[in-house]
Amino acid sequence: MNEKLHVDIDETLVKTRHLAPDEPVKPGWNLIEFRKGDKLFRYQSIVRPSARAFLERMQQYQPDISTSGGAEFQIQVLELHGLRSLVGNVYGGDYSEVLTLQGPWVLLDDLPAFPCNGIVQKFRRCGLGDTGFNPSNEVWMPLIQRHLVRPEIFEGEEDPQPLTDLIPLIEERFALQR
Ligand SMILES: [Mg+2]
Repeated sequence: MNEKLHVDIDETLVKTRHLAPDEPVKPGWNLIEFRKGDKLFRYQSIVRPSARAFLERMQQYQPDISTSGGAEFQIQVLELHGLRSLVGNVYGGDYSEVLTLQGPWVLLDDLPAFPCNGIVQKFRRCGLGDTGFNPSNEVWMPLIQRHLVRPEIFEGEEDPQPLTDLIPLIEERFALQR
């Protein structure tokens, strides 16, 4: 069966923060410079300590990235942290098409399930277009219970919860859909 894991990037796999023009990069963080038109933006980014081990163990689910940010920038972030080869497609916030998924899928994302606008957008992309933008709790709760796993937010440096600890929960979500 074709099973798909969608993974959010910011505050789930990494923490990336915008830097003021002269602001120094904090020790342990990495500088990213991103050019958009004739403007250069500076960021600092740090990888969640458990991110690599987690993605390595999730390869059977062909993880894709589902982010509200720009895909081009987030690919640069993934490359910086050596994670690009561990994920497939990178869907950015500007990707509005609905994916034609077949089979079970799970989203790992730190976004709150309620209020659920951000999550609804991502779920819609995963093929739940018929729920509308404001699904009732009756519709929404079972979807969350089947498809969403929410890690503790990664703010940088300390790992509040190794992502590998969430693997049993992810397996459970997939099992519910088989
Ligand atoms: Mg996030």
